[in-house]
Amino acid sequence: GLEAREVSAWFGEHKVLEQVSLDMPAGQVTSLIGPSGCGKSTFLRILNRMHELIPGAALAGEVLLDGADVYAPDRRLTDARRRIGMVFQKPNPFPAMSVYDNVTAGLKLTGVRVSRSERDRLVEECLTKAGLWNEVRDRLRQPGGALSGGQQQRLCIARSLAVRPQVLLMDEPCSALDPTSTRRIEETIRELVSEVTIVIVTHNMQQAARVSDRCAFFLASPGVPGGIVEYGPTPAMFGSPQDPRTADYVHGRF
Ligand code: ATP
Ligand code: MG
Repeated sequence: GLEAREVSAWFGEHKVLEQVSLDMPAGQVTSLIGPSGCGKSTFLRILNRMHELIPGAALAGEVLLDGADVYAPDRRLTDARRRIGMVFQKPNPFPAMSVYDNVTAGLKLTGVRVSRSERDRLVEECLTKAGLWNEVRDRLRQPGGALSGGQQQRLCIARSLAVRPQVLLMDEPCSALDPTSTRRIEETIRELVSEVTIVIVTHNMQQAARVSDRCAFFLASPGVPGGIVEYGPTPAMFGSPQDPRTADYVHGRF
């Protein structure tokens, strides 16, 4: 699993996360919920070392993947990226690249070598896991940009899976999609989680309730950086939240 220990984050002088600790156990879906601007995306970017690419961004604390420091000086950035994949709100396949090449695009970047015949199998396997194979098996040479939005997002999931990550981070992966595509991705998430630890940011409380095993409720307020107010098993977060702010948020009174 993935563990954040006392993670704080700054953009210049502006502190946006304060001492966030969170356990994201293997084999489970953890949802990050909370109002806009409370630091959920920032937290995700810290987990896979994208935060450090932002000019002026700083951080403190530790991120451990199966107990090993993701930020260890001897650990290569590409290694962290390969093990911890990310899917974004807006589907971002390489639009001019074929569906097939989109799936394999991450292999070279992260130094994973795959033979030609293995590559064909890998493409089929990842598209199948992403719930897209049947729709694109005859369209593998078409550009990724020719797929529908929901298909493009599933293509992005397949691309993430190709490098065999241990963790998949998803930042509002369904918020640009129609309800049918959303449900298909939710099904995919539940099927994947036995092999890939999943952390998902969502503003959709029904979605958090449907897909996640655990939820963490983030909150920031003027002058107070983001932090976790409450976290626990999803049924408890929705059924018997301990903090009145959690109850208000999950019941849409925020
Ligand atoms: P949303 O639900 O709207 O996506 P969020 O919880 O993901 O919000 P973040 O995007 O992590 O919130 O932003 C947290 C805080 O950090 C906000 O105050 C935001 O303005 C600030 N912030 C985010 N990215 C940057 C950046 N690149 N430079 C400066 N400040 C930033
Ligand atoms: Mg965000």
